[in-house]
Amino acid sequence: MGQRSFSQRMVIGIFLPVILLAALQSVAVKAQSVLDRSQDTYKMNNREPDPRFKADLLLIVAHDDDEADIAGYLARAIDQKRRVAIVWVNGTGQSFNGGRNLVGPERADSLAAIRVIEGLRAVAVLGITNAWNLGGSDNETQNLLESFEANDHGMTLGRVVRLVRLTRPEVIISWLPEFVTGENHADHQASGILAAEAFDLAGDPTAFPEQVSPATEPGTYANRTEGLRTWQPQKLYFFANATHEDFYAGKGPEYNVTDISPTRNISYADIARQSRAEHQTQYNPARHPPGSPRQGTPAPSPVQFILGKSLVGGSPTDDVFAGVVPGGIPYQRPPGYLAPRHVEPVMEMGDPWHYYYLFWQAHGLDSLLGLIPYEISITQGTYLSIPLIVDNPTDAAIDVNISVSAPQGWKVLPTPPAHIEAQVHRYYMRAQAAAPAEIRPDWQMFTVTAESGGKTIGTVPLRVQLARDSFRQ
Ligand SMILES: [Zn+2]
Repeated sequence: MGQRSFSQRMVIGIFLPVILLAALQSVAVKAQSVLDRSQDTYKMNNREPDPRFKADLLLIVAHDDDEADIAGYLARAIDQKRRVAIVWVNGTGQSFNGGRNLVGPERADSLAAIRVIEGLRAVAVLGITNAWNLGGSDNETQNLLESFEANDHGMTLGRVVRLVRLTRPEVIISWLPEFVTGENHADHQASGILAAEAFDLAGDPTAFPEQVSPATEPGTYANRTEGLRTWQPQKLYFFANATHEDFYAGKGPEYNVTDISPTRNISYADIARQSRAEHQTQYNPARHPPGSPRQGTPAPSPVQFILGKSLVGGSPTDDVFAGVVPGGIPYQRPPGYLAPRHVEPVMEMGDPWHYYYLFWQAHGLDSLLGLIPYEISITQGTYLSIPLIVDNPTDAAIDVNISVSAPQGWKVLPTPPAHIEAQVHRYYMRAQAAAPAEIRPDWQMFTVTAESGGKTIGTVPLRVQLARDSFRQ
């Protein structure tokens, strides 16, 4: 920097006192507005929530293309004047390392920056403007607990609860929180758990209370507490991209996507294709014009949902908005966790299945209990691990022997007998098997049995699909 010119010095000389005077006056006005209790701005907290963000339906999913799987339904809901908003939990996060680019050379964080905009463009085609990308990482695992570990479950939940309170939806839709073949992306399952947690927490003023506390000094620029209101959603639905669809029957509504949109005069499937075409780095529309069969095209099969729970009654197959009460409903407490009360030693399936079983009951998702047998996809030529939990409520030591029934061609690894000392009430074990090198078309059926003291203390069935490119277990 060189010396200032004469004219610059003149300008500074003339205007600096004026600027300083204005700044001092501004401080005085602000101080007065804070101290002047006759003009108390605290009452600004009583304004109505911003109506631009009210949604009828909030979609909570993992990645910023997950909406494509049900875009045919979202377009129909928007035709029916439903306001739809979206939360992408994992989005394409700060450490984006997954995915390809069919358009240009950009990869890693540059590709992440592109994917954020592709997501916004895709949902704009559907007529959705309110979409938030929380930017969590994209995790290549089937285990939702690893996804939570990578993305700070607590912090992410707080952010999702905030957006439920801001958008005040009657209906929340998310990925199925269950371990189902095909749905082998843990981030999907984790977003379903977050949606169910947020459904039950957004109406509870003791959960993330800073969000629902009135702003301390709303007349100033300071942002301390958030001024949101509690909100109780009414219905929770799930969808999945499983390799089999037998479990949907009777569990929720389904929507034909070949119907013609009265506002656009094309089918809902075609609207969904136009929306998905915006994800050009993943689905190049030049190579795959709308209507052409290609991998990733929304199938003309209906969009199917599973009713997780309804706080306003009705039957599972009713329309998504059937029974919804305008203006909201009071908070309804979920059942919460109840510790099991075993009196004898018992062996059960371990995590993440065990966690799901406890979670569904704690959150009143009875519709998911027994919906799908224990199942998993495993890449051929890799290892299957069957995690087990032995609970011993007695104070005596026990010995546990595990036996594994496996299909032909699998090599079961030996699981040594376990001596569980007295006072050890929980013990972790696992059975393992090496998968055959080739893909097989049928379910590979396993049964793990545990015996202790001459008695069977547990039997765990697991069916396995051998598949190419499954994420790690
Ligand atoms: Zn996804």
